[in-house]
Parts: sequence; structure tokens; C-alpha cells
Amino acid sequence: VSRLILVLGDQLDLESAAFDGLDASRDVVWMAEVKHESTKVWSTKARIAVFLAAMRHFRDDLRARGITVDYRQLGEPGGETFAEQLRSAIRRLKPQGLIMVEAGEWSVGREIEEVAAEMGVTLEARTDRHFLCSREMFQRHAERRTQFRMEFFYREMRQHTGVLMEAGKPAGGQWNFDHDNRGSFGKEGPGLRIPPRRFTPDELTKSVIADVDAHFPGHPGSLVEFDWPVTVVQAREALQDFITHRLPEFGRYQDAMWTSEPWLYHSRLSAAMNLKLLHPSVVIAAAEQAYKDGLAPLEAVEGFIRQILGWREYVRGIYWHFMPGYLERNAMHAEHELPAFYWTGETDMQCLRDVITQTLRLGYAHHIQRLMVTGLFALLYGVQPRRVHEWYLAVYVDAVEWVELPNTLGMSQYGDGGVMASKPYVASGKYIQRMSNYCQGCRYDPAQSTGPRACPFTTLYWDYLLQHEPVLRRNQRMGMQLKNLSRLSAGDREAIQKQAASFRAACDSST
Ligand code: FAD
Ligand code: SF4
Repeated sequence: VSRLILVLGDQLDLESAAFDGLDASRDVVWMAEVKHESTKVWSTKARIAVFLAAMRHFRDDLRARGITVDYRQLGEPGGETFAEQLRSAIRRLKPQGLIMVEAGEWSVGREIEEVAAEMGVTLEARTDRHFLCSREMFQRHAERRTQFRMEFFYREMRQHTGVLMEAGKPAGGQWNFDHDNRGSFGKEGPGLRIPPRRFTPDELTKSVIADVDAHFPGHPGSLVEFDWPVTVVQAREALQDFITHRLPEFGRYQDAMWTSEPWLYHSRLSAAMNLKLLHPSVVIAAAEQAYKDGLAPLEAVEGFIRQILGWREYVRGIYWHFMPGYLERNAMHAEHELPAFYWTGETDMQCLRDVITQTLRLGYAHHIQRLMVTGLFALLYGVQPRRVHEWYLAVYVDAVEWVELPNTLGMSQYGDGGVMASKPYVASGKYIQRMSNYCQGCRYDPAQSTGPRACPFTTLYWDYLLQHEPVLRRNQRMGMQLKNLSRLSAGDREAIQKQAASFRAACDSST
């Protein structure tokens, strides 16, 4: 073998730089289903199946193009970690060198470098063309500032790419339509919508489902409803389906939640994009075209594009800028374990029950469910950011460390002390009441912070402010919340702290 081209599970892109100059008569592509990747965090069956189904389809696609693929399926010999499988492949195939696109996870990149060095084979890691902002470009952005803010980065990206720009100015005269994009569904609920396009598993995906059930029987979730896009063709169909049926309302309802309604107006494209089945520029161009054709309003299109051209590129920049130390950060000194109900959904808090049950079942929750239900609870409760990170990495079909970690540890837990978020995203149960119908079916009352019907979010919210008041005082953006805190009497404070302590003690003892 001349060169071994390594393709990781989240690098399923035919246009990938790893294939530049490929000589199909001598080069071999290497792919491996590595058990350790699904067990180092207790992955949901949906997450494992999305990766493996997409990998097997990609393998077959490469073979149909005359490319030799050395592929190891689950359970085949060679080992259970990347390092073991790669060592074994190098011994068998004796390549002159290894080629890959930079890994999406810091530790996987290191693991491969170490194996290459140990086996005395050269390794060429090429820049990932999937992203619109390279690591070097983000580095230049970062060098110029002491404080990181997504908004400034996003504006630079709009100018750099020309997306939603008209004669050098932002389309509609504004960079940001966030104030139009905070609607809830009121009392009536989301009403009738065309459900998202489903992808019934074909024979190959069925073989993956059988393998996942056989190799990971005790893992959370089920594959009965598995319907994710796992090929380029399916991913493009999913994109078109979203642009036609949901994009026009995406902006207005992007923060809203409703019981037993996982999809609402969201795109369900994150897994396809993170696996690299879909290039972000294709997604962005489709949304921009819908605006130009008058099929979707600017607020919706800008809101959607901001998530991809802004947030998605930004979190990747933050990840590489701050790794590996980022993983260890715990700015608020949170020390609790993750409550056990995160793995079962068995809690009487209606919002958490709905979001966790849905998450384990489907491997999906939308942004506000992740940030303001499961994330908010863990933050207020005081769970170690590392434990929260491990849960998020395990449960979602789109979970890859470069995007999951800054969102979880930084944005939702404030574990980085203000790199991702300018203040902790803290709120009481009243926020959830405003943005959803969860509280209607709950035994707790979001307006109460003490007593038998006190909503745990509300109790913990005040307790969080009391606990961290000295640190939060230094943050101007917390002014309003701390002003409200100062209105609490000494008796109220004491009662809240007592209630929070006994709630945590009860929860911890069942964990
Ligand atoms: P839509 O709501 O339709 O949004 C469109 C696209 O924008 C998404 O597909 C995604 O590619 C991108 N996007 C939106 N928000 C973000 C964001 N904050 N960061 C990066 N990209 C974004 N996203 C992941 O892809 N993988 C993760 O592991 C992940 N973990 C998260 C953990 C927490 C605690 C939070 C708060 C957010 C996380 N996100 C993650 C971001 C976001 O929640 C998901 O991208 C989104 O819910 C995926 O569903 P969708 O495709 O329907 O998104
Ligand atoms: Fe969640 Fe509190 Fe509302 Fe119950 S009352 S659904 S716990 S926010």
C-alpha cells in the first residue's frame, strides 16, 4: 500500500482534502467502527446508529467509485480503540504514510499522532475544508481581542463570505433580528404543521440497528423510531424539506418549547452537518436563496444563518483556541454529580421529564431545551461541568466534542468563566413557563420558591444568586437580577437556602 487515508466517523465528505491526489490503484482508505467511541461516554443507541449507518453508506459509496476501503465493523478483530485498530492496520497494510484531515476531537488527533510516531510512519493532517473559518483564521480573530463575543465574529464572517450582504451593508440594514425571534406559542400551542421528512432505514441501516442492539444492549434509548438522514442524498432532501416547510417560521419560534413536540420549526440538520454529509455553505446558500425568492422572511433566514455561519463556526474556533485545558475548567466550583434521572427521565419535574425522555428516545432536543431546561437545571444545581459535558456528548445524535464542549461547559454551565457567555444563563421556572406549556402539567408552581409546591428551578435560581453573589456583582449584566435579589428579606433568603439544601440532599442521595 502506498498511502493509508484515514477517514474518521465524522469526516464523511467526498470533497474532503484527505482525498486530494488519491491514487485509487495504490492508496487505501481506512475506516473503523471503534467500540470505545461509544462506551467512553454512555452513548444513546440513536447516536451510535447515526454514526455507524452513515459510515457504512459512505464506505459503500467509496467502493462504488473504485476506491479500496479497509473497513472494520464492530466486533471484527483489531481492537476496541482507535489506537489498537490503527496499529493493527499499519502492521497488516504497511503503508508508506498516513493522510487525514485534522481530527474534530483534540484527544483523537493526539492518539493518531502518537500511533504514527510509535510505528514510525509519517502522518499528514490536512486542513478541514468543511469549515468556513479555518483554525488559523480564528486565531487571527482571537489575537486581536481580550474578550470574545460571537456577535463580532459573526459580523466578520458575514463580511468575509458576503452572505446576506447588500452593497457592503447587512441585508435589511441590521445584523441581528434576535428581538423578533423570541416568540412562544401562547396558550393555543404550535398548531398543525407538516411533519419533518423521515428516512425509513434501508437494509444497510437495518444491519446497523441490529448490530447496535446486539453490541450495546444496555445503552439508553431505542432504535424503533430511527429515521435520521445518513447519506448525502438524504441530507439534501432533509435540507430541502426544512427550507420549504419550516424555515419561514424558524426565527419566530426558535426559542419556544411544547410538550411532546420535539421538532417544531427546527431543521434537524446538525447530525448531517457534523458528519460532513452536508457542507455548511450549501445549507446557508439554500436559506439565503429562500429569502431572495421571497419564500422566507429575513428575520427567519438571518436567525437560521446566524446559527451556522455564526455560532457553529465560533464554537469550533473557541474549542481549538482553548483546548486541551478547556475540558478541565470549572469557574464556579460546581461539585455535585449529575442527578440520576438524567439517564432515565424519571422525575416529577415536567419540563425535565419531557426533555430527557425525548432526548434518550430520539437523540435530539432543540437548542432551548438543551440550554434552558437540562443545561439550566445542571447549572443551578451545581453539577460539575465535566459530568454535564459527558452527558451531552453521550446523548445527542449530533454530539461531537468540538461543538458540544463549548456549548455545554461554556455557554450552558458558565464553566469557562465568561468566554462563551457574557453572563451565566440563569433563570427561574418562570422562563420555562413563558416559553412552553410544561408547567401546566406539573405538580410544582414556577412562581413559588419555598414550600411544598415550590418549583425546584425557582428555588435553585435564587439559591444560585445567593451563593455566587460576590462573583456575580463584578458582572454588570447581572445588575437587574441582583437588584431583584436584594429585595428578598433575610427570612426569605434563609428559607430558600434551606429548601435548596434539602432538595439537593434528596437528589444526591438517590444518585
Ligand atoms: P436548528 O435549531 O435547526 O439550527 C440550525 C443549525 O444551526 C443546527 O443544525 C446547528 O448546526 C447550528 N447551531 C445552532 N445552534 C448552535 C450552537 N449553539 N452551536 C453550534 N451550532 C449551532 N450542536 C451540535 O451540533 N452538537 C452538539 O453536541 C451540541 N451540543 C449542545 C449542548 C448544549 C448544552 C447546547 C445549549 C447546545 C448544543 N448544540 C449542539 C447546539 C444546538 O442545540 C444544536 O445544534 C441544535 O439543537 C441541533 O438541532 P437542529 O439541527 O434542529 O438545529
Ligand atoms: Fe419545570 Fe418548574 Fe415548570 Fe415544573 S413548574 S415544569 S419543574 S419549570
